[in-house]
Amino acid sequence: MTRDFLSLAAPGVRTLQPYQPGKPESELRREYGLSDIVKLASNENPLGPSPRALAAIREALSGLARYPDGNGFELKAALSAKLGLSTATLTLGNGSNDVLELAARAFLTPEHEAVFSEHAFAVYPIVTQAIGATARVARANPPDHAMPYGHDPAALLASINDRTRLVFVANPNNPTGTWLKTAELEAFLKAIPERVIVVVDEAYFEYVEAEADCPNALCWLDRFPNLIVTRTFSKAHGLAGLRVGYAISHPEVADLLNRVREPFNVNSLALVAAAAALDDFGHLERSRAVNRAGMEQLRNACRQLGLSWLPSVGNFLCVDMGRPGRDVFLELLKRGVITRPVDNYGLPRFLRISIGAETENARLIEALTDVLKD
Ligand SMILES: *Cc1c(COP(=O)(O)O)cnc(C)c1O
Repeated sequence: MTRDFLSLAAPGVRTLQPYQPGKPESELRREYGLSDIVKLASNENPLGPSPRALAAIREALSGLARYPDGNGFELKAALSAKLGLSTATLTLGNGSNDVLELAARAFLTPEHEAVFSEHAFAVYPIVTQAIGATARVARANPPDHAMPYGHDPAALLASINDRTRLVFVANPNNPTGTWLKTAELEAFLKAIPERVIVVVDEAYFEYVEAEADCPNALCWLDRFPNLIVTRTFSKAHGLAGLRVGYAISHPEVADLLNRVREPFNVNSLALVAAAAALDDFGHLERSRAVNRAGMEQLRNACRQLGLSWLPSVGNFLCVDMGRPGRDVFLELLKRGVITRPVDNYGLPRFLRISIGAETENARLIEALTDVLKD
């Protein structure tokens, strides 16, 4: 019997390229027999989770026979208090990836289009294509722009047509690190027709420093009811392994997102850990301080190595290797350091390096210096 499952698949799925995650430490250990490994490949928090989150998890363990609270009452209450917004604006997700997919499922059909930028986060094309909708990719800024390879609002606007239902904007963007400044994003939101839903993905919001003028898009929720802001506990809150994120939107939009949400999409441990993490301002401050110092450490090393990098307000730096980034990635692997090649993002000369703890950054810098000397 000849099997052709591919022809049975939904049209969008047939040509779907799966998401390529950062290489896990355990994989490198297995493949290379290395033990002392530094992973700077997935923008994780080097400090780990808040001790309060860990304590909350421990306490919740004995309740694991029960289903989680499908409405996430406690976490929503904590978020609502923190953000000063009604719980009706919130949609919880199994990571913010989940809420990005909810947006696609709620608003896209095979007759509709989603708009996003070149070099933007890889999940946007995946969720768009999985629905069978059309992805319209807007040209990014040229390399000589102040935000090289960053989102170009004019190009995004020009890609919107009668079939557009969704626009994805990552602010700051991953893997570039670039961002739209307050006035730019505000003007962009103003120019978008109200019938088009705009998702502003703020996965790195907690890392953004005030002087960068990278906005908090929540301030525009009242003015732009077509706005969805997404955030996550995976990055600065150090809970990537638990999978918990959320969307903030107009309550009617939140209602639609929640209709397509799987029941119990956020597990019990994630719910309690996220609520506890929200309260731990000290841990967040320490995480920011480690990131600030590590960013400085990495930029100084790049300067010494004669490498340039893209502007970044996240916890990672996209560095121009002046040669194929994947070659450097493979050489770094041999030296026990995992980074992220971004050729699949249309940036073949670059390597995305997450900011780690001081000693991890030092290991990366030492290995990189070694690789680049020949
Ligand atoms: C890391 C990241 C996310 C977060 O993904 P989670 O599913 O919340 O872990 C979302 N958007 C961007 C741009 C990211 O880099």
